[in-house]
Amino acid sequence: MSGPRYRRTREQDQRLVAFECQECGWVSYPEEKRTCKKCAAAPATYERVQLQEQGEVLSFVEQVYLPDDFESPQLLGMIDIPQVGDGEPARVYGLFTETEREEIEVGSQVDARFRELFDDGDRPINSFKFSVPREEKA
Ligand SMILES: [Zn+2]
Repeated sequence: MSGPRYRRTREQDQRLVAFECQECGWVSYPEEKRTCKKCAAAPATYERVQLQEQGEVLSFVEQVYLPDDFESPQLLGMIDIPQVGDGEPARVYGLFTETEREEIEVGSQVDARFRELFDDGDRPINSFKFSVPREEKA
C-alpha cells in the first residue's frame, strides 16, 4: 500500500500555513479575518507565511473529567510555532496525541500537525495535534 490514507483539499490542512498582519506582524492561524485581532487594522492586509513543523510548549493542562465518549485523560497545550523565515511565531492551542503527561514539560519541543481531529457526521473537524518527536524510535 502506498499514498496518503485520505486526500486533503485545502492547503491549510496539509501544511502549516498562517497569515501575518502587514500592519503589526501578528500571526493569525488558521484563518485570516478582515480585522486584525491584535492591532485592529480593518481591513487588515495579510501575507501568507509558512510555519515550522515543531513548536515550543508554553503551557498545558491535563483534562481528567470528560464525558464518557471522550478519551481521558486528555492533554491540551498552548504552543508557539515559529515561522520558517523571520517573524513572530503563531501561538496556537491544540490536543496532544500519543503523548503521556510525563513526556512533556513547559519548554519542550513538540511536533505540530494540522489534521482531522474527529468527524461530526457531516464534515471533518480539523485542529492542531501535538506530540513528542518520535524520530529516535525505529
Ligand atoms: Zn495587526
